[in-house]
Amino acid sequence: QKLKVGIIFGGQSSEYEVSLMSCASVIKVMDKSKYEIMPIGINKHGNWKLFLGSIEKIENDTWQSEAIPVLLAPDPKYNCAIEINNGIEKRHYFDVAFPVLHGPRGEDGTVQSIFELMNVPYVSCGVASSAICMDKVFSKKILAQSNLPIVDYKVFYKNELKGKISDIISEIENSIGYPCFVKPANLGSSVGISKVSKRDELSDALFAAAKYDTKILVEKSVDAREIECAVLGNSDPKASLPGEILPSRDFYDYSAKYLDGDKSKLLLPAPLSSDLTTQVQELAIKAFKALDCSGMARVDFLMDKKTEKIYINELNTIPGFTKISMYPKMWETSGLSYKKLIDELICLALERHREKN
Ligand code: ATP
Ligand code: MG
Ligand code: MG
Ligand code: MG
Repeated sequence: QKLKVGIIFGGQSSEYEVSLMSCASVIKVMDKSKYEIMPIGINKHGNWKLFLGSIEKIENDTWQSEAIPVLLAPDPKYNCAIEINNGIEKRHYFDVAFPVLHGPRGEDGTVQSIFELMNVPYVSCGVASSAICMDKVFSKKILAQSNLPIVDYKVFYKNELKGKISDIISEIENSIGYPCFVKPANLGSSVGISKVSKRDELSDALFAAAKYDTKILVEKSVDAREIECAVLGNSDPKASLPGEILPSRDFYDYSAKYLDGDKSKLLLPAPLSSDLTTQVQELAIKAFKALDCSGMARVDFLMDKKTEKIYINELNTIPGFTKISMYPKMWETSGLSYKKLIDELICLALERHREKN
C-alpha cells in the first residue's frame, strides 16, 4: 500500500510562482513506487483545488483550468480533501501533507494549523515555530534571548509612516546608519527588501516594505559572505555542510535568486575552514532548537568579510525546493540524495505525529 501524500502548492503570498517551481521539482523526484501523490493547489485568491494533471502545467501555471475545487475541514473525521459536485461529496484521503508553500499563509503556521486540526501529519515545523520563523522580528527576539548572534535592528509600523517620516529617518540614522536593509517582517524571496545607502532612498524603501506588511524591519547592513546551512531532524537535528552564495547583484534580491539564470553562483560546500564550518553548523542547530523547529529549516547566515564574525540572518521553515535550490543541494553535498531527503522529511512528519498522539 502506497503512502498518500498531499502536496500543497501555490498559495496567496508573493512567493506563489516560487512555490510552483519548488512543488514541480519535489513531485518529479518523489519515488512513485512508494508514494501516491495528491497535488493540491491554492490559487492567488486562496481557493484550494485538487490537480491530477501533468507537472508541466504546475510549472507554467496553467494547472487551474483542469483542477477540481476541494475543501479541507478542521475536523479529524475529514483527513481528506473534500470535493463537492452537485451536492454530492467525494473524499480524497491522504496520509501525510507536504506543504510546499513559501511566505505568509503557507509557511507561517496558518496552513499548518489546518493539518493540526485535521490531525494529519505534515512536513516541516509546527504552528508556533513556523509563525515565529516567518516573522523576522519575533525570531530575532528569541535568537537574541538565546544569546545567538544577530545584527542590530529597529522595528517600525506602517501607520507610523503616516506621521512625520523625518522623525523615523533620524531615528534610523542615529541607531542603525547607512547602509541598511529595509524588510517586511514577514515574507521571503527578498520581496519588498531594499538596501539603502543614503537618506534619499530611505523613505521609498520604508513604503516599499509597507506594501507587504504592517511591520517593517530596518537592519544594519553587514559586508558579508552569505552562508547557508540546512538542518534536518526532530529532537536530534543534524546540520548539513554549509553552502555559500555569490549573488549576481549588489545583494541576493529576487532577480539574483530567480531571474538571472545561473549568474548567482552557489559554492557547495562553502569554502570555509573546518573551524568556521563547525561554528556555522553549531549555530544552525542552536537556532533550530531555539525556535523549536522540527522537520527542516534552512538557516541563512551573514559572515562579516573582515572579522569573520557570523550572524544568523533568518530561518526558512519551507526553503526553496527547486532543482537548483540550496536546501536539497546542501544535503546532496553532504551525502543525502534529494530523493532520500524527501523520504526523510516524510518520516520525520510521521514520527512527530506519533509522538504527539
Ligand atoms: P529568503 O527567504 O528567500 O532567503 P528573505 O526574503 O527572507 O529571503 P533575507 O534572507 O532576510 O530575506 O534577505 C535577503 C537577502 O538580502 C540576503 O540573502 C542578503 O543578500 C541580503 N541581506 C539581508 N539582510 C542583510 C544584512 N543585514 N546585511 C547584508 N545583507 C543583507
Ligand atoms: Mg526568508
Ligand atoms: Mg524564504
Ligand atoms: Mg534568506
